Amino acid sequence: MKEYAVQVNEGVKFYSIPALEALPQVCHGFSTRVGGVSTGAYKTMNLSLNAGEDTDLVEINRCMFVKALEAGNPEVYTVKQVHGTRVIRIERKETPAVEFRQAEGDAIVTDQPGVAIGVLTADCVPVLLVDPVKRAIAAVHAGREGTLQSILTHVVQRMVKDFQSSPQELYAAVGPAIERDCYEVGAEIAERVQNQSPYAAEVLSRREGSYYLDLRKMNHLFLLGNGLREERIFHVDLCTVCHPRTFYSYRKNEGRETGRMMAVIMLREDE
Ligand SMILES: [Zn+2]
Repeated sequence: MKEYAVQVNEGVKFYSIPALEALPQVCHGFSTRVGGVSTGAYKTMNLSLNAGEDTDLVEINRCMFVKALEAGNPEVYTVKQVHGTRVIRIERKETPAVEFRQAEGDAIVTDQPGVAIGVLTADCVPVLLVDPVKRAIAAVHAGREGTLQSILTHVVQRMVKDFQSSPQELYAAVGPAIERDCYEVGAEIAERVQNQSPYAAEVLSRREGSYYLDLRKMNHLFLLGNGLREERIFHVDLCTVCHPRTFYSYRKNEGRETGRMMAVIMLREDE
C-alpha cells in the first residue's frame, strides 16, 4: 500500500500523507508543477520568490496552492534558504510573513495556529514534522549540505527544547526528491560521506565507477537516530528527476532556471 495520496483540487495537483491528514491538528501538502499561472521555464506552478520569476505570478500561485489545501487563506511563511542548518522560529502570528523572507535559514518551526510554514525544493528533500501532543510543527529543507550536516537533528532538538516535544510522538512526512539512482555524486562528496557519516554504508552506492547518494534514506536514518518511530515516518517516494511533467528538477534541467515546489504545513485554528 502506498503511504501517500495524490489530490487534484481546482486544477492544482499535490501530494499528501493520509496518516497526517488523519491528525485534526494540521493540514499539509507537497506541491507539484501542475496547476499555476507560471510560463516558460517556470511552467506552471513555481512557488519560489527567489528563482528569478516575476514575484506577482508567484504570489498568485501561492494563493492557489494554499486554497487547494483548504487551509483557509494564510500567507505562507518562507525564509531565504542557504543550505545550512539554522532553524527559524515563528513566535507570533502577528509578525507578517514578509519580515522573514530575507532571514537566512533552512528550517522553520512554530507552535502558532494559523501560521502556514513552507520550504522550497526542486530535488532537495522536503521534510514536514508534526507534534500532535504539544501542537508544534516544522518545515525542513534538507539538500545535500543540510542532509550531510544533519539538519533534522537540529530541528528535532529545537522542538524538544522550545516545545517540550518527545521525539517518539512526532510524525514525519518526507516529500518528493531526487532518488538515489538519479543522484550521482563526485568522488569528493563520496569521500566526505565515507569519512563523516555513520550511515555511509547504507546511503552510498557504487555503480560502474560512479557514486550514488541516497538523500531520502539518509534523512530517514537521521529521523530514526533522533528518536522518531519508524511507523510514524512517511514518504512520497517519487523521484523529481524521473517525473519531469509533475516536478521541477534542478539536476534534470542541468542548472538552468526552473521553478520550485513547496512543502507546507499549518496548525489549524478551528480544531
Ligand atoms: Zn529518478
